[in-house]
Amino acid sequence: MDEVLPILSVAVPSIFLEGLDYLVPEGVSLAQAAPGVRVRVPLGRREVTGVVLSLKSNSSYDQKKLRRAIAFLDEEPLVSNELLLLYSWVSRYYHYPIGEVILGTLPSKLRQPKPAILKKKPALVPLHFEPIVDLNQEQKQAVEQLQQVQGYRCFLLDGVTGSGKTEVYMHAIVQALKKQQQVLVLVPEIALTPQTLARFEQRFSVPVIAYHSALTPAVRLQHWLLCRVDVPLIVIGTRSSVFAPFHHLGLIVIDEEHDASYKQQTGLRYSARDVAIKRASDCGIPIILGSATPSLESYHNAVEGRFGHLKLSERVGDGRMPEVELIDLRGQHCDSGLSPRLLELISAEVERGNQVLLFLNRRGFAPVMMCHHCGWVVRCHHCESNLVWHKHRQRLVCHHCDLRRQVPMCCAQCEQANLIPVGLGTEQLEESLTTQFAPVPVIRIDRDSTRRKNSLEDKLHRLESGEPVILVGTQMLTKGHHFSKLTLVGMIEADSGLMGVDFRARERFAQQLVQVSGRAGRGAQLGRVVIQTRQPDDAFLNQLLKLGYHGGLSESLVQRRQLGYPPFGYLALLQADDPHAHKPNDFLRQVYRMLDSFGGDVELLGPVPAPMEKLRGRYRAQLLIKSNRRKSLHSLLYQFHRQVKEIKLSRSVRWSVDVDPQVMT
Ligand code: ZN
Ligand code: ZN
Repeated sequence: MDEVLPILSVAVPSIFLEGLDYLVPEGVSLAQAAPGVRVRVPLGRREVTGVVLSLKSNSSYDQKKLRRAIAFLDEEPLVSNELLLLYSWVSRYYHYPIGEVILGTLPSKLRQPKPAILKKKPALVPLHFEPIVDLNQEQKQAVEQLQQVQGYRCFLLDGVTGSGKTEVYMHAIVQALKKQQQVLVLVPEIALTPQTLARFEQRFSVPVIAYHSALTPAVRLQHWLLCRVDVPLIVIGTRSSVFAPFHHLGLIVIDEEHDASYKQQTGLRYSARDVAIKRASDCGIPIILGSATPSLESYHNAVEGRFGHLKLSERVGDGRMPEVELIDLRGQHCDSGLSPRLLELISAEVERGNQVLLFLNRRGFAPVMMCHHCGWVVRCHHCESNLVWHKHRQRLVCHHCDLRRQVPMCCAQCEQANLIPVGLGTEQLEESLTTQFAPVPVIRIDRDSTRRKNSLEDKLHRLESGEPVILVGTQMLTKGHHFSKLTLVGMIEADSGLMGVDFRARERFAQQLVQVSGRAGRGAQLGRVVIQTRQPDDAFLNQLLKLGYHGGLSESLVQRRQLGYPPFGYLALLQADDPHAHKPNDFLRQVYRMLDSFGGDVELLGPVPAPMEKLRGRYRAQLLIKSNRRKSLHSLLYQFHRQVKEIKLSRSVRWSVDVDPQVMT
């Protein structure tokens, strides 16, 4: 009989798309060699931790040259088969090395050559729920449809802000827990997890576990290990929790499914929403995508019947939809961006003891520091951008590379000492409102004002107390927060959102407008939303106000169909960057020729300079690949990865592939 020579295919952190072959470590029992076990292996001159993908008796490499693995780290597989299959799908779909996919999403502690031990097993508690709140008719219908489903089904829970989507999630979760299953709830932001966690802990007796990148490595490992235990539990997490190692997952919920943060923008550019849908389908379980402003992709899938469409069109309780008013800024005198009409409305609400929210998606004091004499602007040395004036910190800051510098004494062009801030940021708005409305407190919520630990919680807590407050904030405020005393929402300027060039610009603007408006009128009082704009006749804006979110975007859907953009076509973005201005473009021109020679059902657009041509000292260019067939796009990318080595520049220029890109920057 031939001696069987087991060979391990191992995922190692390296550039190889697939696993590398190794011989089984010396002197270990073969029983330990199983897919999902961690193993120490030599890689070049280093020693690294990898994960066994499969066992085989033949290698396509010369077996005599195969290196021997050093030792297994686990007695039993740490990564389940279910998860290994998901990882390998992710690697193929996003054309990203399998080892980077796995090791990059496992807790970092698992890369160390140490056994993984769960310190405290969760006690199996009797299942117990807080009394369920009464549901309205629409909520009841949604819950009933969810209860009827057997196996995989993706649902879009399409509910206006304040319509009680969470209550529907809760009912579905009860169903899963009753079957002793585990539940994953994805939220778009770490800042939202404590709030959500508290809400779930109040309602359910089972363990409720946070999983996100802000946990310490040790805690993150413990939480990861907890998911593997055979007890019903709920995981509340951000993007990366889609790879948590559930023992028996029974339901996935994705809150605010449209949110851009579900797509990772560097390294493995995956969409947690799309991976979650794949995982639910593999596991044969239901998944709920919830949003007041669904992405056009999900909305289209629901309309076409691929997803179940659950609609909630009414606000629960006393909350009524806010009235919307446009303020034409043309020819008006504005004080720090505030028109007389808006100022009047603010004082009226504050006098009634209500809260006001002013939305401006631009932090700092002023976006531009300009020479009053000659128009010279202080720019970043490393990026294609202006430096933003931060008055509190007395610094000019680049919002792209974080370069900080003092304000120059005089202009670099004409040498006059007359630099002035131009334009409006949240700091300036805060300062102006503080002087005009004292003693009413003005609270600013943006990335600068919430850097300190707990400062966001403190601010939100103050708002919940219900005292009259003027709130100034960026898009951080559009997500999930609930303020019952808020009766007026002002969008300081709609114009930059309306003029975006990206094919998703309108969708994003509509989402922002609806989400920020949705903060008003959540309590018993009717809310009002005010939009300041210099384009009050803009056709899209008026459609949106007249027809609401879905109706307002119907035109955009028609355009996307004509142009073959998602959800009607498929995209991949090839990006390259280098300190030398010409290299990214040279490289992508060669890539273009290579892709073109493959033929097939694809369209190549570019290469062109990236919208932000220089970032952190590197020049950037991009090439967009478009196809009406997902399969054609992927087979092209597959061929490209096999042959890209033939292009010499591929070894010096930094490049990446973004499948289903969300941002074209
Ligand atoms: Zn000057
Ligand atoms: Zn910069």
